[in-house]
Amino acid sequence: MIPFLDLKAQYTTIREEVNEAIQSVLDSCQFTLGREVEAFENEFAAFSGASFGVGVNTGTSALHLALLAAGVGPGDEVITVPFTFVATVAAIRYTGATPVFVDIDPVTFTMDPEAIEAAITPRSKVILPVHLYGQPADMDPIKAIARQHDLVVIEDAAQAHGAEYKGRRVGGLGDLACFSFYPGKNLGACGEGGMVVTNNPDYTRTLKMLRDWGAERKYHHELLGYNYRMEGIQGAVLRVKLRHLEAWTEARRRAAAHYNHIFDGSGVVTPKEMDWARHVYHIYAVRSPDRTAWQEVLLEHGIQTGIHYPFPIHLLPAHADLGYEKGQFPCSEQAAQEVLSLPMFPELTSDQRIEVAAAVKLLATQ
Ligand SMILES: *Cc1c(COP(=O)(O)O)cnc(C)c1O
Repeated sequence: MIPFLDLKAQYTTIREEVNEAIQSVLDSCQFTLGREVEAFENEFAAFSGASFGVGVNTGTSALHLALLAAGVGPGDEVITVPFTFVATVAAIRYTGATPVFVDIDPVTFTMDPEAIEAAITPRSKVILPVHLYGQPADMDPIKAIARQHDLVVIEDAAQAHGAEYKGRRVGGLGDLACFSFYPGKNLGACGEGGMVVTNNPDYTRTLKMLRDWGAERKYHHELLGYNYRMEGIQGAVLRVKLRHLEAWTEARRRAAAHYNHIFDGSGVVTPKEMDWARHVYHIYAVRSPDRTAWQEVLLEHGIQTGIHYPFPIHLLPAHADLGYEKGQFPCSEQAAQEVLSLPMFPELTSDQRIEVAAAVKLLATQ
């Protein structure tokens, strides 16, 4: 069986470092926030080209708090895409604001900058592009529109640790950026984790309060806060893993290049790395109108695949009350029907890649 993702393969390569990091937290008993989390905040913010990092318990919490820090609340509108993981939209709704969707560009799977203007109203407050699959959204035009309309830009970088836009890492591109350290992400905790990074000290102060019950000093609660603190063990583990991230990202990029090479000229629709991007291939998705059949055949051949994501958010029952209908975002809807994520992780071997690609190529030429 070739798995879609193999977390064990990675743990095996760094077992001792990770075990030591966990042991050091057990010895220190700094189980929540603390020294390791603070060090990781500084290291990851620097890695992402931002001045400040605020560690939280999940990527979803990072999005929720970034929106709150930007002043988003009931009556406000947040412009985002329907082709994303549901957390992007759920976080907007937690604040009481209304998500307003714009379609994706069908080649990059990220926000179509040309669709934004039509979605802006006097209630718009934030533009929230998603760096889907590990490729940055086209940030320059998005930022230009935001500047023109006085909107805050929040990056959903949950899938894009280390990705670059025109030579700059994601995280420092918008006003705030949100990362997830869910185990399956390119940088994954031994459990859950997330972070908001920003260059703005005022946002940082608010974020730190909001994640810890709205207080700067214990029991002096100034804001309605949350218990969204990052755990000490996750901070310590993520510091270890951050040191390996560039090597893992390069391994992902080599795997993607290898897939691309085998698919060249076969008619398989492969992901396109834009001129302005350094894609970090959290997901390597091919497209086919027959992807459901492909998935079944591949599984029969012992090849596990994934679908990210089978439904655009505007067509999910959980968000039906937003009032959107089928046909409103054709590029997102078509992508949701056609994408198929092939096995992709840094430890994926050359032989495994060849086996996967050969099976897919066969399907594409049938
Ligand atoms: C994973 C993910 C999130 C949520 O992160 P969690 O850590 O799972 O809460 C948000 N947005 C996108 C695009 C994601 O892939």
